Amino acid sequence: MRTIVIGAGVLGASAAYHLARAGAQVTVIDACLDGRATAAGAGIICPWVSGADDPVFYRLYTEGARYYADLVPALAEAGQHDLGFRRTGAMVVSADPSDLGFIERLARERQAAAPEMGAISRLTQREAQSLFPPLRAELGAVHVAGGARVDGRRLAAALVRAAQHHGAEVRGADVREAEARGADGRDGAAALIASGDRVEGVVLGGERLAADRVIVAAGVWAPALLRPLGLELPIRPQRGQIVHLRVAGQQTRDWPVILPPGSHYLLAFDDQRVVAGATREPGAGFDCRVTAAGLAEVLANALEVAPGLAEAEVIETRVGFRPVGPEVRPLLGAARSVAGLIIGNGLAAAGLTIGPLAGRLLADVALGRAPALDLAPFDPLRVTAPGQRAMPALP
Ligand SMILES: Cc1cc2nc3c(=O)[nH]c(=O)nc-3n(C[C@H](O)[C@H](O)[C@H](O)COP(=O)(O)OP(=O)(O)OC[C@H]3O[C@@H](n4cnc5c(N)ncnc54)[C@H](O)[C@@H]3O)c2cc1C
Repeated sequence: MRTIVIGAGVLGASAAYHLARAGAQVTVIDACLDGRATAAGAGIICPWVSGADDPVFYRLYTEGARYYADLVPALAEAGQHDLGFRRTGAMVVSADPSDLGFIERLARERQAAAPEMGAISRLTQREAQSLFPPLRAELGAVHVAGGARVDGRRLAAALVRAAQHHGAEVRGADVREAEARGADGRDGAAALIASGDRVEGVVLGGERLAADRVIVAAGVWAPALLRPLGLELPIRPQRGQIVHLRVAGQQTRDWPVILPPGSHYLLAFDDQRVVAGATREPGAGFDCRVTAAGLAEVLANALEVAPGLAEAEVIETRVGFRPVGPEVRPLLGAARSVAGLIIGNGLAAAGLTIGPLAGRLLADVALGRAPALDLAPFDPLRVTAPGQRAMPALP
């Protein structure tokens, strides 16, 4: 039984890792396309203070955060320590005490079901600034000790290496090469082979690779892959531009994630790096340029919240396409109308939190096991786009 995984973002890499760890024969293919979400994602893991109000989605979101406690040691056993993962805590900041009161109540209500949130504390302006020195002095905070951050690139690469450690084959474009030449690796792109209502494998650079199951975890490129099968996956790209800053001479490793009102945020990594995110641009299509307006928006928001970053050096800008579906619930599971096809998509702005767990759930489906979480609400073909056929006639 061979499974092919198309896409080695956080979702496909996790699926491949869990399959290989279970002893399955697995090949994972990635084309290193420009705009892949995992390579641009900020890496905040703190679902408990989010505005998520769909209980089914919220459960997946929090289970995803909880799953890191299993994943990190399991990857370490496979020799993978370099994930950029750290429980730094997270601070919801505001100058308005009533905002903070609301968040504190929400966090405390949710805490009973999520002990991994750790301690919740209300911080004075001075206490908040002592944890994140560039912060505006007028901002108080609610601190959630279990908040964490992870580096999406390093995590996905570690998952792929761990999959290889357990015997997986890796095909497609070489990430380092693609990055070095500043172009994407379309030559590493796979296409599906189908016959009747069954997927039989993929074509990669003219070579046919047979498989019993194919997991399509191709992010915003999945609709194009699935269209020849008559499936119209309702996934659209939402562009996110994000800026990396260096704050010379500062020990940033333990700085908490900063969540101000609105959708912008700050987080820090070990190497004097502060990440300021991010735009949410649903109308940009597949345009992966860094724009003047995007940079201005991200930097203005960052400096409003943390004026102490004004002298930081801009060291990198990244652009990624969040795979966004019509509902907050992702698309996860077997495509019932096409035998052998499993789809993972729609992780939108929460994929670095949910992706590792979701990949494990997809691996369970491929292995014929009951997934640890009921995937019925995430049926990948539950939402039909205009023109979609329920039972596609395949070539
Ligand atoms: C700016 C930004 C900030 C974010 N911040 C956070 C955050 O703080 N916390 C959080 O939880 N989430 C965050 N996210 C969301 C998260 O990054 C995404 O939800 C997640 O990375 C999606 O993963 P994926 O594997 O589904 O897709 P992707 O990472 O896009 O992976 C899809 C992969 O498929 C490959 N591919 C596509 N077609 C083919 C083909 N035909 N053949 C071979 N390979 C193919 C691509 O090269 C790509 O590597 C953020 C996203 C962005 C853009």
